[in-house]
Amino acid sequence: MVREQLIPRGIVDARVQAAMQTIPRHLFVEDALHAQAYGDFPLPIGEGQTISQPYIVALMTQALGLQGHETVLEIGTGCGYQAAVLSHLCEKVYTVERIKPLFIKARRRFDRLHYLNIVCKPDDGTLGWPEHGPYDAIIVTAAGPEIPPPLIEQLADPGVLVMPTGARLSQDLIVLTKKNGRTTSRCIEAVRFVKLIGDHGWKE
Ligand code: SAH
Repeated sequence: MVREQLIPRGIVDARVQAAMQTIPRHLFVEDALHAQAYGDFPLPIGEGQTISQPYIVALMTQALGLQGHETVLEIGTGCGYQAAVLSHLCEKVYTVERIKPLFIKARRRFDRLHYLNIVCKPDDGTLGWPEHGPYDAIIVTAAGPEIPPPLIEQLADPGVLVMPTGARLSQDLIVLTKKNGRTTSRCIEAVRFVKLIGDHGWKE
C-alpha cells in the first residue's frame, strides 16, 4: 500500500509512511472486508459512512506537518483509522463522532489496540471541542459548505487545519494555516467525501 499507492503520489513524509505501514487497517473494517482493506479505494464502515482511500488519509495527514509534540482535533471519528494514524504522529488526539454506534465501535477499537493517547466523544464536531483547545492541528474528515468558524477559533497560532469544502457531491481539499493572527488557505486536491452534518455543516 505504502510503496504502490502513497510514495508514487507524493507522500514523502517518512513518519506518515511508517505509521501507515504499521497500523493494521484491516482491523478497522468488518471481517468481510479484511481482504480489501489495503486497496486503493474507500470502504464502507456502516451507517452509510466510509473510510477514505489510503492515499487521501496520507495526504491529509501529511498536510498537517506533525512533528510529535502536537495536540490534534479530528472531526468525524468513523471507524477510527485516521485517528490511529494521527496517534502515531502527535502527542494527543481528540476526536468527535456524531453517530453514536460508530463512536462506540471506534472507542472499543482504541481500547483493544491500546491507542492510549486518543480521546473520543459522541457530539456535533462542527462546534469543535473547546475544553481541550487550542489545537496545533485540526482535521475534518467529512465535507461541509464552509470551514466551521468554531474550528478556526479553536486552532492554535501557529496552526494548520485540513478539511474538504464545497458542494455536496464534490469538494476541494483545503489546507488552512493560521500564523501571526492571519489565516491563508489553499486547495491541494479535488475530493469527494461524506457529508459533515451539524450546526456549522449541512443540515441533513
Ligand atoms: N476519519 C474517519 C472517516 C469517517 S467518514 C475514519 O478514519 O474512518 C466521516 C465521519 O464523519 C462519519 O463517520 C460521519 O458520521 C462523521 N460526521 C459527519 N458530520 C459530523 C459532525 N458534525 N460531527 C462529528 N462527526 C461527523
